[in-house]
Amino acid sequence: MPLTQSWIASANDADHPFPLNNLPCGVFSTDELEPRCGVAIGDMILDMARAEETGLVDLVEDPLFDLPYWNDLMEQGPAVWAALRARLTTLLAADSPERAKIEPMLVPAAEATLHMPFVVSEYTDFYAGRHHATNVGTMFRGAENALPPNWLHLPIGYNGRASSVCVSGTDIRRPWGQLKSPDHSAPAFLPSRRFDLELELGAVVGTASEGPVTVDEADAMIFGYVLLNDWSARDIQAWEYQPLGPFQAKATATSISPWIVTRAALDPFRTAPPPREVELLAHLRDTGPMLYDIDLDISLAPAGKPATTIARTNYREMYYSSAQQLAHHTTSGCPMNPGDLLGSGTVSGPERHNRGSLLELSWGGKEPLTLDTGETRTFLEDGDTLTLHGQANGDGYRIGFGTCTGTLLPALPDPYAR
Ligand code: MN
Repeated sequence: MPLTQSWIASANDADHPFPLNNLPCGVFSTDELEPRCGVAIGDMILDMARAEETGLVDLVEDPLFDLPYWNDLMEQGPAVWAALRARLTTLLAADSPERAKIEPMLVPAAEATLHMPFVVSEYTDFYAGRHHATNVGTMFRGAENALPPNWLHLPIGYNGRASSVCVSGTDIRRPWGQLKSPDHSAPAFLPSRRFDLELELGAVVGTASEGPVTVDEADAMIFGYVLLNDWSARDIQAWEYQPLGPFQAKATATSISPWIVTRAALDPFRTAPPPREVELLAHLRDTGPMLYDIDLDISLAPAGKPATTIARTNYREMYYSSAQQLAHHTTSGCPMNPGDLLGSGTVSGPERHNRGSLLELSWGGKEPLTLDTGETRTFLEDGDTLTLHGQANGDGYRIGFGTCTGTLLPALPDPYAR
């Protein structure tokens, strides 16, 4: 599928993240406008509240867009999602007869502040990248026990905290916690010294489930995807994770990109899963290409200095798709709701420069990275800014995710010293 031409010139640039083929969903405000739903098109944002108010977008009886979240639209289900995409494509296409009506509803993205695009009802994070699980398992338990015995049979996950999810641009505070790092013989309560990132994709569940769903049904429930950084305190994690998995190590913050890229926009980039070493049970079996060819990278900028790209990978490296994760999540009867966020797990590839965390890139801190500035890093230092990028590359266009960024602030003084 080629680029769909728009009357908005910037959207026709082959390198722009937001062409007409994309139409990602976000929430924005300006000096004049309260936070509301918007759709990115080139360098502009279409004010969906106004498009609805004037009747140019008229999907259902209730208003869906004069709200600071996309949950109400998501609840309407795939037929309404498709109708919205078709209507916006018509309004913004090069030959649109309604250009003059739409033009005053466009806000320059440079003048807008972006907010959380949806209310996160619950947050689950998975561990579904085989290279990542092998690397981390080797460091934590040795090469013989790297992959847990269940890993090739089901997507392992843990219930995270919806309250910890924040939008790109939010500063992250280095946490304190109980840790037992290699340089400490006894547990101690200290600021984390091994604070890290995890490069992930987040799937945004759009519709509710009651009872178990199939992989195909799960795929149809997914509204779209965001970039996700699962900030992780490795020294807290290493001490606390057995037997119930990560807890405080992952509870400080999880950053997401401000634009939800819809499943429809990513459809041309579907790829098959990797060969299965162990056949999956019927309810998790592959039914089609449910991964996506999405280039991902991580850049790290020390305070006041230029950024270095420290890793490049691709979402097709995952072992389990978000649809398989979502299907697995429902097997117990666990109800899923609009606004549920599922972290993919760290997206690492086979080579060293494909690794999606500093834990892997520096091999547990033993092999420091050298940045373009000449500085070295094992884990994050105060003032470091981490930025994730993602894009699917089409024929003369790209489907961009924008960026997911955050700056690490120093730990506060001992919170219990009072
Ligand atoms: Mn994670």
